[in-house]
Amino acid sequence: MLVIKEDRTATMEFDIEIIRKDFPILSQKVNGQPLVYLDNAASSQKPLAVIDAISDYYKTTHSNVHRGVHYLSQRATTAYEDTREKVRALINAKLDHEIIFTRGTTESINLLASSLGKHQIQKGDEIVISEMEHHSNIVPWQLLCEETGAILKVIPVNDQGEITEESYHNVINEKTKIVAICHVSNTLGTINSIASIIEYAHQFGALTVIDGAQALPHMTVDVQQLNCDFYCFSGHKMFGPTGIGILYGKEALLDALPPYHGGGNMIENVTFEKTTYNKLPHKFEAGTPNIAGGIGLGAAIDYIMKIGYEEIGKYEDELAKYGHEQLSAIKNLRFIGDATEKSAVFSFVIEGIHPSDLGTILDQQGIAVRTGHHCTQPLMDKFGISGTVRASFAFYNTIDEVDRLVNGINKAVAMLS
Ligand code: PLP
Repeated sequence: MLVIKEDRTATMEFDIEIIRKDFPILSQKVNGQPLVYLDNAASSQKPLAVIDAISDYYKTTHSNVHRGVHYLSQRATTAYEDTREKVRALINAKLDHEIIFTRGTTESINLLASSLGKHQIQKGDEIVISEMEHHSNIVPWQLLCEETGAILKVIPVNDQGEITEESYHNVINEKTKIVAICHVSNTLGTINSIASIIEYAHQFGALTVIDGAQALPHMTVDVQQLNCDFYCFSGHKMFGPTGIGILYGKEALLDALPPYHGGGNMIENVTFEKTTYNKLPHKFEAGTPNIAGGIGLGAAIDYIMKIGYEEIGKYEDELAKYGHEQLSAIKNLRFIGDATEKSAVFSFVIEGIHPSDLGTILDQQGIAVRTGHHCTQPLMDKFGISGTVRASFAFYNTIDEVDRLVNGINKAVAMLS
């Protein structure tokens, strides 16, 4: 049921049965059992609204965007550009053209490492990341350091999987030029105090890059309030399509950066002697974009806003609390990451059992979890393990699915011990 709240924002009353019906993939059986999908941190499932938006686009609207004078091109452009405005509103950016479409978080960070590196990074400069970063927020900066002679510095995490104030104060200093940190860790679920880290980094004049891939599926993000310089995320983790993502940047900073890719759409004028570049956001959007992906992302944002982050947060907190209680009761289970501020992600190991064996037996019971290093190998090294089992929840998961997971683990342990 749709409810209009006093502040005029419309939200849907949180009815899990209705919500699950919006996700057709969830109603299938896997290995003879109803699917329990707990691999949401890797990629989340898509509501019908997103699937239909993509299908309708190809059935009724498809044409290349920008510059076309004919009906379909203009219609496709409007639909695609509508998403830019939806993203702007979602993260409360000041301006539409501060929203750059990319293929995803990985490409957004690579764009920054490449474009920032060309002009603003020199030998001896320091680039700061944390020990809990995804490889996407490590390797692009390493490549930049190799090219420029800059030095990569790493903020350690404590045994609970948190970044303490002391730890980032010890690493960020006047040599720091970029601080690139995840908002929420994909492996640990830790929600970092990024507003404080951003404020501290700015005291030294450093630019801040936030990897928000794991935040947007769960929580409100306000880039103006955070005062971050850049914020990156992926459509497919927030119930939208694959192959579309966002780079947010403050207008003045994006304006000052050189383009990343060259090609159509990003130019103002081309001669063999010299090319001048298009204005924002097109300067960073060379070539035909993922139009259907953009439109699908717009539908995903509409869907999230219809439920509301407040409702999503409350429901996921309940799931996380119950999940933590139930998983804690399993003998010899050790959580990897047990932060005070945490999203509904559980990484764990069970003594004497290899994570991939456990994952395989869970799969036989229709339960999808991820096993391995989760693209955070340095973090695994810190905890002295090769990998974990990770169960990551979304708002369409249920208390019953927590029970299925726990029973599944107990069954697997009995088989493997
Ligand atoms: N950063 C984090 C925290 C992630 O969890 C992921 C994906 O798992 C990425 C970056 C990379 O995202 P993508 O593969 O969509 O570019």
